[in-house]
Amino acid sequence: MIPVQDALEIILKEIKPLGTETVGILDALGRVISEDVFAKRPNPPWDNSAMDGYALHTADIAGAGKENPATLTVIYDLPAGQVPKAVVARGQAVRIMTGAPVPDGADAVVMVEATKSPEAGKVKIFASARAGENIRKCGEDFKQNDTVITKGSVIRPAEISMLATIGCPLVSVFKRPVVSVLSTGDELVDINEVPGKGKITNSNGYALSALVSEAGAKFIRLGIAKDTKEDLTAKLKEAINADAIITSGGVSVGDYDFVKDVLKGLGSDMIFWKVALKPGKPLAFGVIQGKPAFGLPGNPISSMVAFEQFVRPSLLKMSGRNDIFRQCISASLDKDIKVKPGRMTFLRAELTSTDGGFIATALDGQGSGVISTMVRANSYIIIPADSEGFKKGAIVKCQPFDSSVLSGTNTSY
Ligand code: AMP
Ligand code: MG
Repeated sequence: MIPVQDALEIILKEIKPLGTETVGILDALGRVISEDVFAKRPNPPWDNSAMDGYALHTADIAGAGKENPATLTVIYDLPAGQVPKAVVARGQAVRIMTGAPVPDGADAVVMVEATKSPEAGKVKIFASARAGENIRKCGEDFKQNDTVITKGSVIRPAEISMLATIGCPLVSVFKRPVVSVLSTGDELVDINEVPGKGKITNSNGYALSALVSEAGAKFIRLGIAKDTKEDLTAKLKEAINADAIITSGGVSVGDYDFVKDVLKGLGSDMIFWKVALKPGKPLAFGVIQGKPAFGLPGNPISSMVAFEQFVRPSLLKMSGRNDIFRQCISASLDKDIKVKPGRMTFLRAELTSTDGGFIATALDGQGSGVISTMVRANSYIIIPADSEGFKKGAIVKCQPFDSSVLSGTNTSY
């Protein structure tokens, strides 16, 4: 058996990012940017007012207050979208709106709430101000030529705001990997068929396709291959048209486990492992005509765990992502857990956020075919290969696999 980390390292060495394409920024949500983005202009583009108020010389209102206001002459109104008509001289003020360019001469804006206009063309200022107060300086957000988004970042609404701010309607992103998903097994029927005796529904084909989507890639469902070398060969030849191939089942040591042989027959350098991973021991990996092929185990949970640990980081690397690994968080165990040492064990668990940190509950029903436990889980508890388990209260590493850990039915301010 080889350690999970070693298998992962060997796989990732073979994986390269795909090419790029240009898309409109609103089609780029969730995509991975393929080049550094430089600001072609600063933000703010010019000094502007952060408030509705009066642009003035701070020297004219030094010492002003509630009881001793300073009186200034208002020379014009300056709404957002217009340019200043004249320099502000000493003793003068401009009635300015939020977002309007600060006129030359003025070194601060006093908000309208601290002023009163006793007559047309005059304003009383009931406060003093620091130089620069309520002025958003040119370039205080970013300067021209600053790197504002780095290659390999995922485009979120914040990145779309940035691209729009600097006037980029189009953005270069990495292509999304297209992944063939093939299930193997004579016992499998498709979802619309009622399984007869001895048959089961091909759930892996659906689960793995969903995992592919969740990783930002596109799936092609190739359905079910029979446990014969002929059918497997025919279906896998079709699978090679995609950027990557995933199969489930048939990689173990059973009499009908032909996936290894057939993958080998189609290309070079297939590697077959017993990975020290539980659930999910058998794993085949190889590169066929430049396309990575992952032979995952057939048990539903084993295939999902193996996908999470090996396929997901690979697809994210193909997608050009910098951050390809799920991060572990620490949580306190709410009861003892015992495992057989020898393999890195992934226990389906429920993570709960409390004021004292996260609590991890290992769920009952950890068999590699128990899907109901997967439905209740939002995280794995990871038990290192050399460990026999942990006592209640121990701090363990957890790998949340979806965002439900961070969402709830009530506010938690
Ligand atoms: P295998 O790795 O082919 O020996 O399969 C191991 C177990 O997983 C068997 O109980 C299979 O029936 C089950 N299995 C294999 N493929 C699938 C699938 N696509 N969907 C659901 N269960 C499967
Ligand atoms: Mg099988």
